Amino acid sequence: MFLIQDLGGIAGGFYFPSIPATLSAVIDPFGQRELTGSAARILAHELGHSLSLAHVPCTPEGNLMAAGCDSQDRTRLTATQAQAARQQARRGQPFGS
Ligand SMILES: [Zn+2]
Repeated sequence: MFLIQDLGGIAGGFYFPSIPATLSAVIDPFGQRELTGSAARILAHELGHSLSLAHVPCTPEGNLMAAGCDSQDRTRLTATQAQAARQQARRGQPFGS
């Protein structure tokens, strides 16, 4: 995982399965590495990719892996997603490696 000060506004983060690595912007303009709010959610989303989770559609109840959705709760995972992430974590390697 790499924390980048500024990704130039193109995105809040990326997961590159071919490396594999997660890049996440540190959004605080003063350089504080206190990840809160959207920065924390984006980092959690990218780490979700490293744990094998793919994007899911926007739903009224929201989901951490639903990208580009508006104001739903974007912190939750389904039981199936949590199970898949735990299974990938037990392998001891990021998804795609
Ligand atoms: Zn994503």
